Amino acid sequence: MTHRIEITRSEAKARGLTHFFTGTPCENGHVAERYVSNLQCVECNRAPLQALAPLLNKITFKL
Ligand SMILES: [Zn+2]
Repeated sequence: MTHRIEITRSEAKARGLTHFFTGTPCENGHVAERYVSNLQCVECNRAPLQALAPLLNKITFKL
């Protein structure tokens, strides 16, 4: 498990960072960084892309 430094959204924003991390799980239970811009958990944003990857590969293969 990687060690993450906790940083509040306002602090991340002040430092010009795109992500912040509070250690608090999101609504889906991910303890992950969140986007400063929209407060969304990076894991929640990543999951749909991973689910789509095999499908995209198939489409590419057919073409
Ligand atoms: Zn999440």
